[in-house]
Amino acid sequence: MKDKTAIYPGTFDPITMGHIDIIQRAVRVFPRLIIAVAHNPGKAPLFSVEERIEMILQSLEPLGLRDLEIESFSSLLIEFAKWKGAAAIIRGLRAVSDFEYEFQMALINRKLDDSVETLFMMPSEQYTYLSSRIVKEIAYYGGNIECLVTPPVVKKLREKFARGT
Ligand code: ADP
Repeated sequence: MKDKTAIYPGTFDPITMGHIDIIQRAVRVFPRLIIAVAHNPGKAPLFSVEERIEMILQSLEPLGLRDLEIESFSSLLIEFAKWKGAAAIIRGLRAVSDFEYEFQMALINRKLDDSVETLFMMPSEQYTYLSSRIVKEIAYYGGNIECLVTPPVVKKLREKFARGT
């Protein structure tokens, strides 16, 4: 894996412990990891790209994760991956329900460019039920999200929902 770059793309709206679990696994395998934050207007994200990047930075900093790059992109993922010279796209697989969509995306990306491989990583079981959507729902109703996201993300979600956005 020497000199190999991997891209971990996602909406990260916001970053959760599940994302962090995958990032920690990926950096053990790849010497260079780029976290690629998709603008993704189709998903109508709660947070702006800038806010999402800031939360990623604040969440990863205390973990001492080095050699990580965080970038946003609004182009086709495969184009971004090629532009960055990535050998692999990392995706997280939580449950069978993720499989169909991820399978389709991996094969389409392969069709677009066969030189970039999609690799799937499984999180620790405790995070298999976790998604950004669930976190936002719990936070919206004022529930406890402390063990699902990092303290900076808890703060940001509380602020967001306190303002009634
Ligand atoms: P996207 O809109 O691209 O699905 P997400 O931020 O929801 O963006 O997810 C980015 C990637 O992280 C996806 O591969 C997703 O399956 C993975 N992921 C999200 N939550 C978890 C989790 N709890 N455990 C493992 N992988 C996860």
